[in-house]
Amino acid sequence: MRKPMMVANWKMNKTRDEALAFIYAINESLPSCDVVDTVICAPAILLRDLVKRQGDNLRIGAQNMHYEEFGAYTGEISPVMLHTTSVEYVIVGHSERRSLFGETDEFINKKVISALSHGLKPILCVGETLDQRELGITSSVIRNQLEIALKGVSSDDIKNIIIAYEPVWAIGTGKTASPSDAENECKNIRDAIKELYNAVTADEIRVLYGGSMKPANAKELLSCPNIDGGLVGGASLDPTSFLELVKCCL
Ligand code: PEP
Repeated sequence: MRKPMMVANWKMNKTRDEALAFIYAINESLPSCDVVDTVICAPAILLRDLVKRQGDNLRIGAQNMHYEEFGAYTGEISPVMLHTTSVEYVIVGHSERRSLFGETDEFINKKVISALSHGLKPILCVGETLDQRELGITSSVIRNQLEIALKGVSSDDIKNIIIAYEPVWAIGTGKTASPSDAENECKNIRDAIKELYNAVTADEIRVLYGGSMKPANAKELLSCPNIDGGLVGGASLDPTSFLELVKCCL
């Protein structure tokens, strides 16, 4: 039995006051973390404030990190900084980082390894562009992303990774993958993990769907056997909508 998970990706949104009002609005209403993991991935400047005020059933994540511990990397945040701020999760390889900031699979692999070695749980994003989808190469693109991003990750460490299938054409566009397409690709991810690791790991690893998920379409997506939760941008910005999404996991 895999525990469902709902992850908010606030991207570059919310002031400190807005962020605190959000978590005060949901803290008491969240279902127990025994039955669903609820995570908010916030801008780095808000992490400390959120960690200090997170309720028992809320966890905090970062949206990005550098793989080095310290150094001349102006503007970057290190895994040591995240870990010592008691952040638990970090999104790695989001398509906006890949497309807008030139992150490659090899660079993402370094972040995955570094996050794990600093006790952080990476939420590794993979997914195809519209061109790749139209060329019919979705599964091989995802397979390749996984193979490179997970290079050197041991069978012990893979247990601390969450994979998010995020078709790039569905992110922030209002277009959602159909439940059957999303299920197929999440199943392909699980099959790839089985080949790269083993059947038990494939069965245990959590695979989320991301791409214009909202309360109106979440139930159908989350009822698919290989979809264990969501990574949500737009619909995670409003506390009522996010709470509804968390409850759709139950
Ligand atoms: C995301 O940013 O990971 C995402 C899925 O965004 P949205 O829900 O807005 O498509």
